[in-house]
Amino acid sequence: MDYSKLCAVYERLEGTTKGLEKTSIVAEFLKSIKNFPEAIYLLQGKVFPDYDTRELGLSEQLVIKAIAKTGGVLEKEVTSLFKKLGDLGLVAEEIISKKKQTSLFSKKLKIEDVLRSLRKIAGFEGGGSIESKINSVVELLHNSSPKEARYIVRTVLGDLKVGVGSGILRDGIVEFCFNPKSISEKKKLVEVVQEAYDKTNDFAEVFIRCLENSLDKIKLSPGRPVKVMLFPKAKDISDAFRIVGKPAAFEYKYDGFRMVINKDNKDNVKIFTRRLENVTKQFPDVVSSVLSNVSAKSFIIDSEAVGYDKKSGKYTPFQAISQRIKRKYGIEKMAAELPIELVVFDIIFLNGKNLIDTPFEKRRKLLEKIVKQKKKKIVLAKQIITDREEVVEKFYAEAISNGQEGLMGKNLKAPYKPGSRVGYAVKLKPKDRDFDLVITGAEWGTGKRAGWLTSFDVSCRDGEKLLAVGKVSTGLKELSEEGLSFEEMTKILKKLIISESGRHVKIKPRIVVSVQFQNIQKSPTYESGYALRFPRINALRPDRGIYDIATLKDIKSSSK
Ligand code: AMP
Repeated sequence: MDYSKLCAVYERLEGTTKGLEKTSIVAEFLKSIKNFPEAIYLLQGKVFPDYDTRELGLSEQLVIKAIAKTGGVLEKEVTSLFKKLGDLGLVAEEIISKKKQTSLFSKKLKIEDVLRSLRKIAGFEGGGSIESKINSVVELLHNSSPKEARYIVRTVLGDLKVGVGSGILRDGIVEFCFNPKSISEKKKLVEVVQEAYDKTNDFAEVFIRCLENSLDKIKLSPGRPVKVMLFPKAKDISDAFRIVGKPAAFEYKYDGFRMVINKDNKDNVKIFTRRLENVTKQFPDVVSSVLSNVSAKSFIIDSEAVGYDKKSGKYTPFQAISQRIKRKYGIEKMAAELPIELVVFDIIFLNGKNLIDTPFEKRRKLLEKIVKQKKKKIVLAKQIITDREEVVEKFYAEAISNGQEGLMGKNLKAPYKPGSRVGYAVKLKPKDRDFDLVITGAEWGTGKRAGWLTSFDVSCRDGEKLLAVGKVSTGLKELSEEGLSFEEMTKILKKLIISESGRHVKIKPRIVVSVQFQNIQKSPTYESGYALRFPRINALRPDRGIYDIATLKDIKSSSK
């Protein structure tokens, strides 16, 4: 199929903000890719299924080079056009359209070729890989029409700007594959398809299963990440009981980060974060700890990695170990410096068997059987089972004085629901005084801080929209040796600058930070209608993505 057909679909999607219209456009397109379902990834500007978090690894700077090379113009010209248009896709389109008047021969791009070439880009590693990446983009652009160039560049940069979120893709699949006749039928189907997606994290597989009517054949398999179950917040202990029922299990809510650990029957261990990133290499300590202390042929366990001070043995807050997640070198040394205790709290696959529908109390029993607990290596979440509020109250106080965040209350009979914030378990925390937010803008510093980004716009989420809730400029150190610094933050964010105006820059929303504050007030200054008072950055949250950040509803309810 010609890539130009897909580009026409992109244009139609770009032309409407209405979800239902987008869904219909997607549904119509799906009809044409029945024989090549992988094209579905491109609708979201992706080239791999969502469980595969490989990236193309091309910054705007490199894409500017590629556009300049293709168009036979100076990089300077591309940059100044970028400043004017604010979108490298449009820049490529304009430059290629000028060039096309002189070059008459180009072959028609096929969707299959575009997907193959883009995937190849992700595979280049090591010496010379940057050149190879640029050349591959140049080759693609050489063969594309101006419009195709717009979308190739945006896809390469991971920002397609056509507004197709997972919800629209899912609804498009439902519309095309099942054509539901009533609202209630549609609602049910949407749920079923969402569930399939949460298990597979692969829209092409879901699409194929729907076409073949074989959604029930979807299997979990260790090695492939599954979305984690999420937890709503309970107001207090009685609210927790109301949601999860009586009696219920209560566990410490540990302040670390989520790790889903998979082992297949050949002893291959893979560790994923909640945003499905494979972090196995960064945690050799955890790999060896599960290999020697979990006795099962194959499993998928859900856990929290919690840092502790190697001298005092006391648990440390998440910030202390956050740098381990992205670490690329000196890993063994860092593992010794910042040790981790793995606290296991759930299991969803054991020895070839899917446990998603097994009640929680049974899953916990299985965990108790297979995990050989070893303090400071691997333990089970501390748990009580009770129907009495006063017992929970005592346990809650104990958790807090132990340095943990609060408690989790869990329904004993509930299944595990990947990807959903259903009330099978709830979190119980003292009033929120920090939120995970995404950085959407920043400001260049002046004087002593010139050359650094020093003030950061942070936003929450409302559906697919991001809304600013404040500016943060404290919490960071000057130098990297002392913790998270302006220098480090600038290095991370510089690659994500979308546009500049004076000292202010717009940032691609990728970097999630935990922001502490004193309170929240209504305010017309920010798009959200709220402002954080005295905000400060606690830590980077490299384990979290844009769908994990605080929602407008969370902000609203904390403002009271
Ligand atoms: P929050 O990040 O505030 O939404 O809280 C939910 C997170 O708490 C989960 O994603 C886990 O990473 C973490 N957590 C800590 N202890 C537990 C536990 N015992 N059971 C489930 N999740 C836990």
